[in-house]
Amino acid sequence: MTRTRVGLIFDDGFVKSSLATAKLFEEFGLPATFAVVADPAKWSTPNFVKGDFDLWNELQSRGHVIQPHGVAHVKLSALPHEQAVGELQQCLDLFAEKLDGFDAKKSIYCFAYNSSTPGLDAWLRPRVRAYRHGGSGLLTERDLTTGNWHSDAIGPHDPGPELLALLERVRRQRPPAFLFTLHGIDGEAWGAIALDTLRRALEIITSDDSFSYWRLDSP
Ligand SMILES: [Zn+2]
Repeated sequence: MTRTRVGLIFDDGFVKSSLATAKLFEEFGLPATFAVVADPAKWSTPNFVKGDFDLWNELQSRGHVIQPHGVAHVKLSALPHEQAVGELQQCLDLFAEKLDGFDAKKSIYCFAYNSSTPGLDAWLRPRVRAYRHGGSGLLTERDLTTGNWHSDAIGPHDPGPELLALLERVRRQRPPAFLFTLHGIDGEAWGAIALDTLRRALEIITSDDSFSYWRLDSP
């Protein structure tokens, strides 16, 4: 039986968590994937320091994967369509300008709050490799080929125990791929996972015959 590819995306780009996440993945010899905002100064997070493109380019040069998560973490489904499209375009433009080697066609647009609309999905479809919005995270082959990726995000508490339980469910159901959205580490902001639980999840993903780690920088 083919293995289920397990992908994890770390949203929001807080500095402390991103560095801890990158370090942990490097212990496993794996790339981590971060979904970050293009203009962090426009998104107020008073208690948490967000990274900038200096950090994202550095992490990318260390082998990690950086994907767009909006301009300023706005819930695009709550905006008029044309305005939301303007935000998508601006986000992709800023990434092209600031992230080394960025190619929108190869990117995974990760909606803030995992919140999109059918119209925004349709706008993105020809412009990106995939877009991620809310859903079960159990991806079919059709989801994969059409770039219609979905994922659950659990919070504001530590989602670690639920992630481990979901991996058990995935082991039984064996979909082609499983995608899960995470955020910070060890209490930093919404839905942060304990580093030890994340390490346990990576041990399971890399050692269990049911799974393979899904590098999100390649199909
Ligand atoms: Zn977010």
